[in-house]
This record gives sequence, structure tokens and C-alpha cells, in this order.
Amino acid sequence: MITGFFFIFIVKYILDTGLGTFDRKLTDKLLELRDFLSHAVNDLCTKNTICQKDIDEMNKYLASLSFCKVLKKEEERYILNIIPDKSNLNQIISKVILSFVEMITNYDIKRIKICKNPECGWIFYDESRNHTRKWCDNTCASLMKVRKFRKRHTIKKASNSG
Ligand SMILES: [Zn+2]
Repeated sequence: MITGFFFIFIVKYILDTGLGTFDRKLTDKLLELRDFLSHAVNDLCTKNTICQKDIDEMNKYLASLSFCKVLKKEEERYILNIIPDKSNLNQIISKVILSFVEMITNYDIKRIKICKNPECGWIFYDESRNHTRKWCDNTCASLMKVRKFRKRHTIKKASNSG
């Protein structure tokens, strides 16, 4: 999985399934963040752009968070690690925001897509050669194929009997 998609993980799983484990303040902040990011991702997927208002909002988040920069040596390479400061709230929000920014700055935004399964809504990165992927994974792909088949079958049956 692309590391830039950490925020999707938060949006999809932590918020949908684990709300009770966070305190109220954190939950509210994360919900706010989720709404904001879903809006931005929706614009990204439908218009291939993020509006200036959202960019300003993103910068507000970035400015309000505190990060610590640490230089590390890893085998033969030097790495600059950007680490959010210690508070829980700041750590989670920082990770989400950073991963989002990393995604839109390092990856082809045209390949960021929302799964066409209306009950899914998962965001994925289309790595197919022709950029034609429609579903987030095989489960959604086969589910939608079955539905399409059934729909076609029903229409055929209806027109046969009528
Ligand atoms: Zn899906």
C-alpha cells in the first residue's frame, strides 16, 4: 500500500469502527478532518483539482501542527524523518494531513479514484496501465459484475415475457 494513503485508512477504518476508543475532543477533530478530506478527495477525483479554499485550509492545519525533524542514518543513506510532536491528537492529525499532502505531491492525482461500488466509496490508487480500474479491489469488482449480470438478466427476462 502507498504510504500516502494513511489518511484513507483513518477515514475508512478508525473512524467507522473505532470511535469509542478515542476521547471526545479527538473524535470531533477527526470527524472534522474526515469531512474536510473527503471533500478535497472528491474534488480531486471528479475535477482533478483542489480548490484554493481547501489548500488554504490544509495550510492552516500544517501551520497549527508541530513537527520535529530528525536526521537518521539508514545503512548507506541519510533520511530526514518528520515526526509529529507527542500529543495524541497532534500525532494522528499530523499523520493524516502529511500523508494526504504526500499523496497529492508525489503521485499522479489523475490516478486517485473513488470505487464505483456505491456502497463502498473506498479511495484507491489506479496503477493499471490504461488508468481504467473502477473498483478498489476484487471483492467490489466481482460484486459489481454479478449485479450488472443480474440486471441485464432481469431486463432480458422482462422483455421476453412482455
Ligand atoms: Zn470498493
